[in-house]
Amino acid sequence: MTDAVRHIPITRLKGVGPAQSQKLEKLGIRTLQDLLLHLPHRFEDRTKITPIFDLKLDQGAVIEGEIMTSKIQFGRRRSLLVTLRDPSGQVGIRFFHFSKAQQTAINQLSKMRCFGIPRRGQSGLELYHPDYSDAAKATLASTLTPVYPVTEGVSQNLLRRLIQQAMTLPEIKAGLPTLIPYSPYPDLIPCIQHLHMPPKEADTEALTLGLDPRQRVLALEELTAHQIGLLSFKRQLSFRVAPALKPDEKRIRNFSTHLGFTLTGAQQRVIEEIATDLGQNHPMLRLIQGDVGSGKTVVAAYAALIALSAGHQVAVMAPTEILAEQHLQTFTAWFAPLSIEPVLLTGKLNSPTRKTRLASLATGEAQLLIGTHALFQDEVQFRDLGLIIIDEQHRFGVNQRMALRDKGRRSDSTPHQLIMTATPIPRTLTMTVYASMDCSIIDELPPGRQKIQTKVVASTRRTEIMTRLEIACRDGAQAYWVCTLIETSETLRAQAAEVVLSELQERLPALKIAMVHGRMHQREKAEVMSDFQAGKIHILVATTVIEVGVDVPNASFMVIENAERLGLTQLHQLRGRVGRGQQESYCLLLYDPPLGKLSKQRLAVLRDSQDGFHIAEQDLAMRGPGDVLGERQSGDVVFKIADLRRDEDLIPKAHHLAQTLIASSENQAAALIRRWGGAIEEYQEA
Ligand code: ADP
Ligand code: MG
Repeated sequence: MTDAVRHIPITRLKGVGPAQSQKLEKLGIRTLQDLLLHLPHRFEDRTKITPIFDLKLDQGAVIEGEIMTSKIQFGRRRSLLVTLRDPSGQVGIRFFHFSKAQQTAINQLSKMRCFGIPRRGQSGLELYHPDYSDAAKATLASTLTPVYPVTEGVSQNLLRRLIQQAMTLPEIKAGLPTLIPYSPYPDLIPCIQHLHMPPKEADTEALTLGLDPRQRVLALEELTAHQIGLLSFKRQLSFRVAPALKPDEKRIRNFSTHLGFTLTGAQQRVIEEIATDLGQNHPMLRLIQGDVGSGKTVVAAYAALIALSAGHQVAVMAPTEILAEQHLQTFTAWFAPLSIEPVLLTGKLNSPTRKTRLASLATGEAQLLIGTHALFQDEVQFRDLGLIIIDEQHRFGVNQRMALRDKGRRSDSTPHQLIMTATPIPRTLTMTVYASMDCSIIDELPPGRQKIQTKVVASTRRTEIMTRLEIACRDGAQAYWVCTLIETSETLRAQAAEVVLSELQERLPALKIAMVHGRMHQREKAEVMSDFQAGKIHILVATTVIEVGVDVPNASFMVIENAERLGLTQLHQLRGRVGRGQQESYCLLLYDPPLGKLSKQRLAVLRDSQDGFHIAEQDLAMRGPGDVLGERQSGDVVFKIADLRRDEDLIPKAHHLAQTLIASSENQAAALIRRWGGAIEEYQEA
């Protein structure tokens, strides 16, 4: 196969018409290459005949025997029972669905050969609906038989036939040279052949676990292609021009004096890294990782100040309106002494206000814009955007493309970009998903933070918890009560919050209790949040909209319902809303009993640790990388063969190979990108 196979539609194969190809598409199979990379998840050994006596429960086997009896049984369900006998013993074969014609055909056979999986049945071990044929005409498989992930309308047999057919095409027989230097397998076709149809003596355990060296070669190629995509994206960026911004020392000192606290060492270090980047004449693309509460906002403010003082506009993007609103307040307060007034742009502004704000951006009158993703709409035009700051972001695929958009381009200049995330990302993942960025880590919390007392509590103890809350609130504490309902709509989440709100109001009439959720109007939400911030509300019932960023230092109590249903990283983020002030803070993780063993372990990680990196590593160990990155992330990086967790050890290797190939063999690097295509290519097109 040449790499042309990537473009040959699956309809080239005999027997695949429009209807069939639509079904195959559900498995992601559109081209011959897709088909070849659709690997089996297990194998059956149909290469030899097993004596009936040696059949084992749940282990598929081929048997051959004389048909002793064949009769319909009327039990709870009508079935056709055929008894087969060989010299070693006999076994029942049962069909629940069968036609008259089928029954007649079976009756005419003298010997039957069949493959099935022995299960416990009425007459001892039985085979249900095996693949069967006339023993006189049957042949044994020469290789192991693949079992594929399938979907409705696509049978195992269809996939097996198509792959066999594909293997005979001249394009495939021509071979496919490995693009990785010094590979033990110079041609990928024999590897692919082996992965679909391994010889009988193959190590099926390694194959099913994805550890066969031939599969690892494919995975390494794919990861390398991905790395090349990211690295060349980074390089393209370095060819672009950005304004070189020099900090205005006087203004910065002035800002620091008004701040009211001293920066931590980590904050200072990261601000210096940013300042160095901003001083270059090509665009910065820097990711700041800092645990919740580590003080990322003020770092962003310093970055903004550098750009603003140099006369450029700055845009700050937050993921939610609540957070945009909060940033507006924070930046307004911090920048007031410097006479910089931020403006807000969210999706819900009325149109006259929106028009005026857009106009002030276009003229450059508005210097600092804060908003949600509404900020990236085409109609938002800047006079001279120098820096984009994205807070609490997870969707990096999208970001990287945004970095190169023409927004804010005056002449040929591209804005600098700073991305902040509270999701601590394990190192190998940083290398994979974020290889195109420079990373800074804020690994120090501001002084005086208290440990958050975390407890795992059964939801049956609600009344007790409410009593405790009441006492705490009377002493001046404020609390979050987080309702979590995953996998349902925002409307359902809102309803759940309503129920909890009225429950709490009824039980705790002396307290002021309010609610925020994603269905509320922007203005209502902002009002509730500012009341909460001002201490006018004791308990804030919230959906996970408060997950990111919200900063109310006096809030010291948090109850999270159905904690067992959330990811550890998400729980850690939620918990980070408390423990921001000087007082002792509490987080109660409520679960619906009984709690499974794994859930217990997971919640214990959170109870025992407050280190976001440690928690993320544990989350990764207990679940898949997709979970650590959050659901929003999934879909951004989709690999055909590689699995970030299983193939973790290949990542540094792929990174190194990518660097070597880019430096020494650009054609080969480009060929790799073309071969693995898809999501990877988008980086190139950005
Ligand atoms: P996050 O990193 O989660 O976004 P924030 O930027 O919201 O954290 O900061 C959390 C709180 O800590 C804020 O109230 C902020 O003003 C405060 N803060 C930030 N840096 C410091 C510091 N160096 N000393 C004291 N308080 C700080
Ligand atoms: Mg924040």
